[in-house]
Amino acid sequence: MFTRLVGNINAKKRLERMFEVGRLPNALLFTGPEGVGKREFALEVARKLICTAGGCGSCPVCERAGRFVFPPEDDKNKDDYKRVIFSEHLDVGTVVAYKRNILIDAIRDLEREAHFRPYEAASRCFIIDNAEKMNDPAANALLKTLEEPPATSHIILVTSQPDRLLPTILSRTQAVRFGPVAAAEVEEYLVRERGFSTEDARLSAIAAKGSLGTAAVMDTAAFREQRSAMLGVLHDAAIAGDLAALLAAGEQMNDAKNKENFEASLDILETLARDVMVLAAGDGQLVTNRDLGAELGELAATAGALRAGSWIVAIEETRAALNVNLNKKIAADALFVKFAGV
Ligand SMILES: [Zn+2]
Repeated sequence: MFTRLVGNINAKKRLERMFEVGRLPNALLFTGPEGVGKREFALEVARKLICTAGGCGSCPVCERAGRFVFPPEDDKNKDDYKRVIFSEHLDVGTVVAYKRNILIDAIRDLEREAHFRPYEAASRCFIIDNAEKMNDPAANALLKTLEEPPATSHIILVTSQPDRLLPTILSRTQAVRFGPVAAAEVEEYLVRERGFSTEDARLSAIAAKGSLGTAAVMDTAAFREQRSAMLGVLHDAAIAGDLAALLAAGEQMNDAKNKENFEASLDILETLARDVMVLAAGDGQLVTNRDLGAELGELAATAGALRAGSWIVAIEETRAALNVNLNKKIAADALFVKFAGV
């Protein structure tokens, strides 16, 4: 079970155990960052509940359970979001937000549906996606069902923001936590399931920081360009010692084309600085940007671990300053003056 899913081995084991002992809670809460596969896992639980081969993933029943058609979110379809949206399997349904909220009518419909006997399987499974989008009345409407769940119905709430759920919801659901997926696993998934080239898969995995969802839609060409600019920054700092070039790089990070990616550029710069630091300290196996080994090695030899460490500190200070709304141009200039070590 869950063999097709990537990462999150602890969550996998925990769910498998619940099935083994025959005690899958009727109300589950899947939490964790965006894009790490929570919804896929929820669907897999649904398949496990309805498939006679134990959630094989390939029989017609499993396939139908994964096929949903969501109406466009425009005004004329609002009524479609006032009910449970079923997959092609009538025992697997989901409630999703209409625009920014999960409509209370959809939760009432879920309550009704949860009390019906299953149509063709032994159980029914309902997934509430982005459960934090329930407002208080919707959440309160759900409480009744969570308190006395019908034995044949399972409800899985999925959210990346559990702190926005009512405490009463939290206390009536059993939480399963999901975390970022390791870069190597993301890489393997992209090659196997999405037909990425090995090189693009590696880059996307680095850039997506553990999110399968982000990795799958990553623009690798843009990332490569951005990373190459940031590598140039470290080169100007460590090897050329060129403050003018660094300040020009700061300008570029703030121009119209790159402004929106300022934070992303900082993130990339930090992974590179970290790589330089671990290389200088002799921990080559911890390098993230493995394809840049030669360039990073040269930087490590020139700058050394201490200097690379000071870059990381400077980047983190910059991020903190940006959080209190410091102007990006000023932040970049201050950062690169520190980088140049002048
Ligand atoms: Zn199956």
